[in-house]
Amino acid sequence: MIPVVRFVLRLNKHMKAFAGLILLLMTVSAMTAQETADAIYYNGRVVTMWEARPTAEAVAIRGGRFLKVGSNAEVLQTAGAETKKIDLGGRTVLPGLIDSHTHPISAALSERDGPLPAFNSIADVQAYIRQRAARTPKDQVILVPKVFSPRLKERRYPTRYELDAAASDRPVIADNGYAGVVNSFLLDKLKINRDTPQPANGKIIKDDKGEPTGLILGAPQLLRDWRRERTATASELVEALKRMQQAYNRAGITSTIDRGQDAEGFRAYQELHRRGELTVRSYVTYRISGQGTPQQARAEVERIPFVTGWGDDWLRAGSLKIVMDGGILIGTAYLREPYGEHTSVYGYHDPGYRGVLAVPRENVVEIARAANELGWQMTAHVTGGGSLDVLLDAYEAADRERSIRDRRFTVTHGNFPNEQAIARAKKLGVVFDCQPMWHHLDAPVIKDVLGAERMKHFLPFRSMLDAGVVVAGGSDHMVRFDPRLATNPYHPFFGMWMAITRQTVDGSVINPEQRITRIEALRMWTLNGAYLSFEEKSKGSIEPGKLADLIVVSKDFLSCPADEIKEIEPLLTLVGGKEVYRAAVH
Ligand SMILES: [Zn+2]
Repeated sequence: MIPVVRFVLRLNKHMKAFAGLILLLMTVSAMTAQETADAIYYNGRVVTMWEARPTAEAVAIRGGRFLKVGSNAEVLQTAGAETKKIDLGGRTVLPGLIDSHTHPISAALSERDGPLPAFNSIADVQAYIRQRAARTPKDQVILVPKVFSPRLKERRYPTRYELDAAASDRPVIADNGYAGVVNSFLLDKLKINRDTPQPANGKIIKDDKGEPTGLILGAPQLLRDWRRERTATASELVEALKRMQQAYNRAGITSTIDRGQDAEGFRAYQELHRRGELTVRSYVTYRISGQGTPQQARAEVERIPFVTGWGDDWLRAGSLKIVMDGGILIGTAYLREPYGEHTSVYGYHDPGYRGVLAVPRENVVEIARAANELGWQMTAHVTGGGSLDVLLDAYEAADRERSIRDRRFTVTHGNFPNEQAIARAKKLGVVFDCQPMWHHLDAPVIKDVLGAERMKHFLPFRSMLDAGVVVAGGSDHMVRFDPRLATNPYHPFFGMWMAITRQTVDGSVINPEQRITRIEALRMWTLNGAYLSFEEKSKGSIEPGKLADLIVVSKDFLSCPADEIKEIEPLLTLVGGKEVYRAAVH
């Protein structure tokens, strides 16, 4: 028996040596294979956002990831016979951009009947009504969507009479979902007149003579049947998503955080993913109502069959979201103190009014606790300072039970973080999803409503970044395809330009002390966006091993005149090494 055992042992030894040799050969060949790039983009000015090497000339890509980032000579070493080589001709390359707040499906559906013009004045609203009236049957309501009075040059809502001038023989609403102006025809149909009592949950605005002006604030039951939008089929949702992702690619966006879907929306994402047709990496927020008792609110969280992080590099379950107040554009953001006397732009006068807290405080606490227990990243729409403080109270309550430090609980919008809120957020590891373009479009009006003192806390990026709070850049895009005319504009360079210059729509610069640098602005749309979705190790910068998402742009982002930043256009967009957009001129 002994020799046999010895033989087996010897064989084992030989086999081990042999296996070792095979392993060595495999490693060597893997190393050689790994060093051969699929594609090399060289002769560029690469702004990497990679700390170890902030600028480079070239990148090599293999298997959808960056293989090498460095000088032309270093990177071209990875070329093999099959490698595709692209000369960038000195163009600037940036990491693929991440928009931390979009609504791509509803934005695409807003134009399914054709382009929707931008509404910058009451005349624009009237022109649209006339145009719709010419092709819509008389019994069908004409709904003008997303009419925000602060964004109209008149700084007020149109009156019923102004709508009548455009169409008086059919129902018309100029609407933003919260406030709606109806024409005289529809007022008649609704049987609203000077004698109509005020609803408990809103206001029918009446003029000096006691006649309704057509403006109805809140009271959703009054207009519910007229606001009802056409529902979309499952395949229409998928198609809408696909088209908007292509539009995002054209704007240089390679990843986004969808800020609110339900089960139907998640299915649309899954279907596009199944077909292999996603072109924007998507981190999708699940929205719940948070209404009812705290126990009911908790049950709403517990019913969802997944938590944050489930998915892959293309599609991932994002955060859990509630909507805690209204908006600064409609005068319903929940402030720390009353709006005051200068609220004519919103159509009301109510000096003691602070806005709407739409989810009870105790529910917010219970949702934060449940989210923390189950492994969710939580976020909440909070536009006013008052609602931000209520949210931070709830995050602190959850944190007392179990640390939320590494959970990256989020503030969505958070327009008014004062020093205390910034310090509390920093302590909790709370991150922000902010919309710099709102400062550009709305700061002059909001300043007139709230006064210069309160405006100091409006989107104070310098203070936030200096305190070490992570702020991601987003658009809150919800209507239209056009990246600059959309509500809200989602062109990332338009947003970066605002954060860099603090320039507003009327040419003024408000709170220049809150300006940030170009690199900081770029970080908001790259690494910080990746941080919000726990993906900063796989994207947000151009460095070896990360996903090969990049853009080639029309101007030198770091050195072009500041005012030209807003005109920068992507020429080429790669997601996972694959070209998803190439400008015709390139
Ligand atoms: Zn939103």
